[in-house]
Amino acid sequence: MDSAQANAGPHKTHTWEELTISATDAGWGDIYKELGARPVVNAIGSVTMLGGSSPPDEVREAMERANDAYIPLMELQDKAGAAIAAMTGVPAAYITAGAGSALTLATAAVMAGTDDQRIQQLPDTTGMKNEILIQTRQRYWYDRCLELAGARLVEFGDPERITAEHLDAAIGPKTAAVHYFAVEQSPDPDALSLEATIEVAKSHGVPVLVDAAGQIYPLDNIGKYVRMGADLQCVAAKYIGAPHSTGYALGTEKMISALALQSFAAYEGRQVRGIGRPQKVDRQEMIGAVAAIRRWLTMNHEDRLADAERMSGAIIGRLQGIHGVTVTPLDNVVGHLAFGLRLEFDQNITGLTASDVVAQLKKGDPPVFTRTLAGEDYISIHVFGLRDGEEKLVGDRIAALFG
Ligand SMILES: *Cc1c(COP(=O)(O)O)cnc(C)c1O
Repeated sequence: MDSAQANAGPHKTHTWEELTISATDAGWGDIYKELGARPVVNAIGSVTMLGGSSPPDEVREAMERANDAYIPLMELQDKAGAAIAAMTGVPAAYITAGAGSALTLATAAVMAGTDDQRIQQLPDTTGMKNEILIQTRQRYWYDRCLELAGARLVEFGDPERITAEHLDAAIGPKTAAVHYFAVEQSPDPDALSLEATIEVAKSHGVPVLVDAAGQIYPLDNIGKYVRMGADLQCVAAKYIGAPHSTGYALGTEKMISALALQSFAAYEGRQVRGIGRPQKVDRQEMIGAVAAIRRWLTMNHEDRLADAERMSGAIIGRLQGIHGVTVTPLDNVVGHLAFGLRLEFDQNITGLTASDVVAQLKKGDPPVFTRTLAGEDYISIHVFGLRDGEEKLVGDRIAALFG
């Protein structure tokens, strides 16, 4: 049953096609407006703060079908994980409450293993290896997820350039795992490579965890790091049209079976209280996560990329030639940020900084969300979250700020 039926009365029951309307259509965002919340046009991309993803019809239909019957969730996790592992070419897989949860459960798994006593002791790590090594050059926004289960992050390496010797020297009796952050769209030549990380870690018998949340294209990257020898790679489902609240843990049999023991499903199903209990995934989401990765691995990516390039081009076309505004097309297709554009503003000419532009766009109707990150004085725009036609609105609204 959908929420429109639950609110039967003055509300119309929408079909999915009708719900995929854009900000240029009447009725857009009404379900939010009824609550007094303001829907926005998302020109940033797949970001958690705006809702991550809009699962396509195929995924929502699968989720709807999951609603009819109940299912023991440990069994569903097993079967869904096996299906995902087969599709992605890794030994085992598990659906988590986001890629962030995959990292948290994986750290719990490397500390507690399959020992029920230890599983129930976390986040108190007394008597366990509890250090996760991370390169000084790879500290990042989501490394917090590695600490939640009680692990301690320990940095290694000279910030100038990190070598295999640095890692070798950093591994000690408390090392539970080495973490690696994969960013193939902008590789860091001075970071220690994943190949070297795996080689050194393996020589000490230490597991390697890889955050590959955004490495969803080329398709071979989904599972590649595990095939290279990492024990775990997490993938964010938000980037491939799965329910935003899900993620994939891909890994070795040993890693995934230990990780599963930490999950909310095992907490209830085995009556062993792991730290994953608050990181719940519903059965409809699990089915949606399977449908989404199946779709992603079989869809026509040339069409997807051509659409992203065309929509980016439409925005660029509306902004070219504005005095004081520099528009740079982005042509990256690796990872989750395909195409898009970068905008820079000459404040002496336009009277506006990048932050002013972001603020002005938010004030409009409908609000158009863009962003500048800390330390940046430009705006990167991506079309992932735009419905067909909204690219024109975005381009026009930005152009209008400059007369
Ligand atoms: C989005 C993201 C995460 C978190 O993934 P969720 O599915 O939102 O929990 C972790 N790492 C990176 C690199 C990401 O881009």
